[in-house]
Amino acid sequence: MPELPEVETVRRGLEPVMTDTVIESAQVNRPDLRWPLPVNMSERLTGQRVVGLRRRSKYILCDLEGGETLLIHLGMSGRMLISGAQVGAFAHPHPAPEKHDHVVLNMVGGARITFNDARRFGAMDLAQTSEVDSHKWLAGLGPEPLGNAFSEDHLVARLKGRKMPIKSALLDQKIVAGLGNIYVCETLYRAGIHPARQAGAISERRVRSMVPIIRQVLEEAIAAGGSSLRDFRQADGELGYFQHNFDVYGREGMTCKTQECQAEIRRIVQSGRSSFYCPACQR
Ligand SMILES: [Zn+2]
Repeated sequence: MPELPEVETVRRGLEPVMTDTVIESAQVNRPDLRWPLPVNMSERLTGQRVVGLRRRSKYILCDLEGGETLLIHLGMSGRMLISGAQVGAFAHPHPAPEKHDHVVLNMVGGARITFNDARRFGAMDLAQTSEVDSHKWLAGLGPEPLGNAFSEDHLVARLKGRKMPIKSALLDQKIVAGLGNIYVCETLYRAGIHPARQAGAISERRVRSMVPIIRQVLEEAIAAGGSSLRDFRQADGELGYFQHNFDVYGREGMTCKTQECQAEIRRIVQSGRSSFYCPACQR
């Protein structure tokens, strides 16, 4: 499942192809993805100039000149393919249509953006740009982890008295938006905090220490995604998935990466999701 850094990488890949460019035609191949697609979607997109491409949590927001915003969520398996345009050092010709190409945007100038989603957990909607923050997908979200509203004071206040495990608290989108399983595991490892520890019982000093760590973990992953864009050599022009080495995620049974720690990384399941941690470094 794409997490925030992957979504940000997709946004950055789409930006030069879409921003300030007119959608010449929009092909909508089915009435729904995870939820019904907006009514008259093709007509509402056709002829619109894209005036901005933003990200909120794991949603890409494509602002159109006419005052509407296209909200895009990649779901579990959604992929964005760019063809007919230069991305980084590479350009890909238009691929043959595939079975799960659900939405295709043809841009003036020849670029094509294809949204392919075999499992159809992705979603798209159109809303007035002026009201997009109160759209049902976005209304309940907490602050962006890389934005100014996400601060040490905010996290201290939101964790105070909470009996849930810290892992669950950091996955709670109302506390901080867009953090997923992988980057929560990485954050807790670097902070030296056991994933099952009760959120409200962690000292204020350690809670504060997590805020710059969360930013650093995400920024490193976004940087890795950025280099994957510059090195855009995937055969089909797919955006957003890149090789990244994790400190703890997916390393069950392997030796901890902390210098002089010989412990083996363990995996436990919390709320149905795997948590990876070092039993010696994380308390
Ligand atoms: Zn360790």
